[in-house]
Amino acid sequence: MNIGLFGGTFDPMHRGHLALAEAARARYELKLIYFVPANISPHKQQPVASYMHRYAMVVLATAAEKSFIPSLLEAPGEDASSAEALSERLKRKAQKESKSPAGASYSIDTVHKFKKTLRKSDKLFFLIGIDAFREIAKWHEPQALFRECEFIVASRPGYSLADVADALPETLRPADAVTHPFRKQAATGDLVLPGVTIHLLEGVHQNISATSIREAASKGKPLGKFLDPAVAEYIRKMGLYRDRH
Ligand code: ATP
Repeated sequence: MNIGLFGGTFDPMHRGHLALAEAARARYELKLIYFVPANISPHKQQPVASYMHRYAMVVLATAAEKSFIPSLLEAPGEDASSAEALSERLKRKAQKESKSPAGASYSIDTVHKFKKTLRKSDKLFFLIGIDAFREIAKWHEPQALFRECEFIVASRPGYSLADVADALPETLRPADAVTHPFRKQAATGDLVLPGVTIHLLEGVHQNISATSIREAASKGKPLGKFLDPAVAEYIRKMGLYRDRH
């Protein structure tokens, strides 16, 4: 069974996230997609809304779609008491070079944890937008992440497979002569290299960002066109993003 894992800050979850998941589900026959709100994302600014609010919004936004599953994989303290989690924390503490904030959720750890729940015959796809993918070389153990799952990268007009290749960590990046012919091609296709399989997915054109939604919410503007109505109502009801300006 093909299964998708879609992580993000989801601060808040919006129609762009849903469009990406829906396009990936249809194109790669994903039977289930797990939406994993990050506890503390090591790659980004800290979220504005708390983990619980962001998780609640993921629950509301995915409620109508049977194959979209909200996931608590990165919930704070989710497995804090297990021996495995303790040894993982100690190991991480020993990694002196790590610059990520304490409590950060590394995608590679999430994927390892998630794969323990899958069957051998399941195939895991990591869903991500091209904006986030361009930072992938800076992530924790990106090579390991590529070994563990295939990537589905939602492209945007103007991007090609060459941009995807350029974003890879140096050890995985193909020579320029290999990627050059792709530079003028459409923003779709597959990049298959030793230890890396990336599918570039086109057709996700929702010009929406969580940043602009938070901005609109802080000014009391209507949010309906960016969000699932239940999420928009939740933001209003709970007064999220209101006190930022
Ligand atoms: P922010 O504006 O706070 O950075 P964001 O929506 O870009 O918010 P995340 O919630 O972390 O950030 O995004 C989760 C994933 O969804 C990332 O892989 C991101 O590239 C992708 N994504 C975000 N917005 C869109 C969009 N409009 N269309 C397609 N993918 C998107």
